[in-house]
Amino acid sequence: MPIIRYRKEFCRPPNSRSEHLRCVAYLDTDISDLLPYLNRTLNGHQYFTDPPALTLKLPGKLVTLHANDISINIVHDEFEADTILEWLKEKANDTWNRRHEIQPKFAVASKPRVLNVLRLLPKTNCGKCGYSTCMVFAVMICEHAALPHDCLFLDDTHLKEIDEYIGRF
Ligand code: SF4
Repeated sequence: MPIIRYRKEFCRPPNSRSEHLRCVAYLDTDISDLLPYLNRTLNGHQYFTDPPALTLKLPGKLVTLHANDISINIVHDEFEADTILEWLKEKANDTWNRRHEIQPKFAVASKPRVLNVLRLLPKTNCGKCGYSTCMVFAVMICEHAALPHDCLFLDDTHLKEIDEYIGRF
């Protein structure tokens, strides 16, 4: 099940504090069976079984692999996204080819609690972060798919509190 082709999409969080892009690469194959092996070889940060998802911590960013896509929470341009995706593709293919000698790792990581993040958000549901409600935004933060500073109305104290809480997981 090598990753052969992918199609990239980029979006920019709709607020003035964010200069980064998010990237999602849609895969042409289902990589669910590969994820526990990659969890072992790439020392995954979080692994979930249902639905299957593996999060890797790279310097300054989180990369999450799902069955049919890979999302990178922060990239500065297409070149950076391609560099990460090509590196990942090489590692994935190598891991898959060597899977008979690798012990898959199914350890499930604990998750941050959505309500612990939500209580620190403004709860006005203004939608300026690009998500329909503060609750949805809190869920995305807990999934490492959004960054707290994408909320325009979070003061520095609450921003720091959320960063510290999420950093524990
Ligand atoms: S998290 Fe912030 S930007 Fe997003 S809806 Fe809530 S108050 Fe608005």
